Amino acid sequence: MMLFKTDLLYTAVGEPIQNGMIRMSSDGEVLEVGQKLQSETSEVKYLPGGICPGFVNTHCHLELSHLKSKVQSGKGLVSFIQGVQSQRKAEEEEIHEAIRQADLAMWKNGIVAVGDISNGSSSFHQKIQSKIHYHTFIELFGFDPQKAKDIFESGKTLKAEAEKVGLLASLVPHSPYSVSNALFKYLKAEKNNALLSIHNQETAAENELFHANSGELKEMLESFGLSTEHLKANKQNSLPTYLPLLDKEKPLLLVHNTFTSASDLEQAEKLHPHLYWCFCPAANQYIEKRLPNIKNYVAADVKCTLGTDSLASNDGLSILEEMKIIQAEFPEISNAKLIECGCKNGAEFLGLTDFGTLEIGKKPGLNWLENLKAPDALSGTKVRRLKV
Ligand SMILES: [Zn+2]
Repeated sequence: MMLFKTDLLYTAVGEPIQNGMIRMSSDGEVLEVGQKLQSETSEVKYLPGGICPGFVNTHCHLELSHLKSKVQSGKGLVSFIQGVQSQRKAEEEEIHEAIRQADLAMWKNGIVAVGDISNGSSSFHQKIQSKIHYHTFIELFGFDPQKAKDIFESGKTLKAEAEKVGLLASLVPHSPYSVSNALFKYLKAEKNNALLSIHNQETAAENELFHANSGELKEMLESFGLSTEHLKANKQNSLPTYLPLLDKEKPLLLVHNTFTSASDLEQAEKLHPHLYWCFCPAANQYIEKRLPNIKNYVAADVKCTLGTDSLASNDGLSILEEMKIIQAEFPEISNAKLIECGCKNGAEFLGLTDFGTLEIGKKPGLNWLENLKAPDALSGTKVRRLKV
């Protein structure tokens, strides 16, 4: 049994507790939370700064970990996709070692659960033996409607492979510009498939493709020999166009949202009752040199989560660092709000009832926010995972 005391105890539910204390069992269960807890047997361990629950990273691509610093930054999404495609192949050993190191780095950075994208099986081995809980999103990729059935079947085969080795997995569309309507239909008809995720409005060209059937993404698809004729320039942004193609009974994570308008946000919330908005600010800066207008989402009180994306577009995998980037741009967003996004909401999306908040009976992991100086400034803070 351990009793911790800190200046600001962030439970991820409401405001932090000043001079907060938390009692943990030896197997990591929260036993008591409050201000003046009695010490019976164990000594009180005072940790200056703050304490919060283990972080939940809702968007990562472990299998791209070997691409760190290999794809040029600041050139926009189309150039980034081309960079990843051309550099992706590497020796199996190099890929596996990079995945192992990335998983370890996330653990050290206080991350307890990850929603991780897989296009192949290279990350499965590490995810099964990891101390981190993983949900695997098996990504479907294919704009040619003729190939939709085959793509769907190979996705199902990969999902079965993941489940056979003990991973939780679901089939998800990569993005609105890389999945045909036929493929969306197969996905919607699939009964045995919970938890959806999609890369949403990461670049302005995605809206242009749906709005006017023109632009850089159209050119990219045509360079792959794919037709975009069926898109028919419907004068709407991508999100309101494709959202009805997804099963609205299933929780859906919209990843990036860099070019989502206020009206898209409002319409989407009306169309879908279980939406989660995932922000990966470091990757947005790396690829598009721009951040989503996150304060609008906070003001609208919708459910936001945080992700690191992959090491192809980030120089580390740390939820705390993502929070710092958001706060540098939007200082009005409080630590408590960011911790709610980076812990509670992510755990809720992934359906993890043990994680996300410091509430009695949970086993959420504990992070010490060392050097936390002010209640609403994370800059300069370091995370240390606490052994309990
Ligand atoms: Zn991604």
